[in-house]
Amino acid sequence: MRLKNKTALVTAAGQGIGRASALALAADGAQVWATDVNPRLLESYEGVANVRCVQLDVLDKQAIARVIGEMPAIDILFNCAGFVHSGTALQATDEEWNFALNLNVRAQFWAIQAALPRMLQNQGGQGAGSIINMASVCSSIKGLPNRFIYGTTKAAVIGLTKSVAADYVAHGIRCNAICPGTVDTPSLQDRINANPDPDAARQAFVARQPMGRLATAQEIAPLVVYLASEESRFVTGQAYAVDGGITI
Ligand code: NAD
Repeated sequence: MRLKNKTALVTAAGQGIGRASALALAADGAQVWATDVNPRLLESYEGVANVRCVQLDVLDKQAIARVIGEMPAIDILFNCAGFVHSGTALQATDEEWNFALNLNVRAQFWAIQAALPRMLQNQGGQGAGSIINMASVCSSIKGLPNRFIYGTTKAAVIGLTKSVAADYVAHGIRCNAICPGTVDTPSLQDRINANPDPDAARQAFVARQPMGRLATAQEIAPLVVYLASEESRFVTGQAYAVDGGITI
């Protein structure tokens, strides 16, 4: 029970990596506030110990502040919400750009801004906390075709992460990013299904993974638990790839 007496907030916990991570954090003893914009998805947590479900749209700054304000304390913040747009710079629209920058980056800034004052009060005012931000290998780490807006936003997440880490390293608060390769989640399946030939689309995703397969969300969650726990107490400002070899 590495996370006993820790309270965590997870955004986009309704499915995919957020859900697998919320379950893993709770299984390791954390009190998890599992949040998602879609309350129907949160119903799947019924009966799960240590999980409290709260509807939260991370595009709503006031709602983020309200939910974090309602928490008894916040030790762990996992900013998981994000959206993938396909396309090149020539195909990208301003609407897509604004939406992705808001959801993938600004919402993390808002949650961090709401959580930091609480984290600075932890440990009798000495400060303590772990912030984990969802980036991607498709970011400043690697350019992938047809991911112009997405890669831009996830590169920004890595910059945001390092900046927060630098400012609070002496205040007990760590901030790291995680950078998955391709993970088999409901939204990936949606993107595959949107193709004229879904089988070929899935094969193309698998083909870019040197291990010859996609990750499961459960293969990403242990990294979140590690970064949330005291085992990683000497780790901050890092962007951790968990990518099946895509960045070798
Ligand atoms: P997903 O895309 O299947 O699910 C996303 C969840 O986010 C849904 O439950 C949805 O309801 C929720 N959500 C959407 N808008 C929201 C909002 N405004 N407020 C709160 N919740 C909202 O899950 P996933 O594929 O595991 O992706 C999660 C994160 O992981 C994203 O940031 C994504 O960019 C990142 N990521 C995914 C992969 C992958 O291959 N799946 C790879 C690298 C990074």
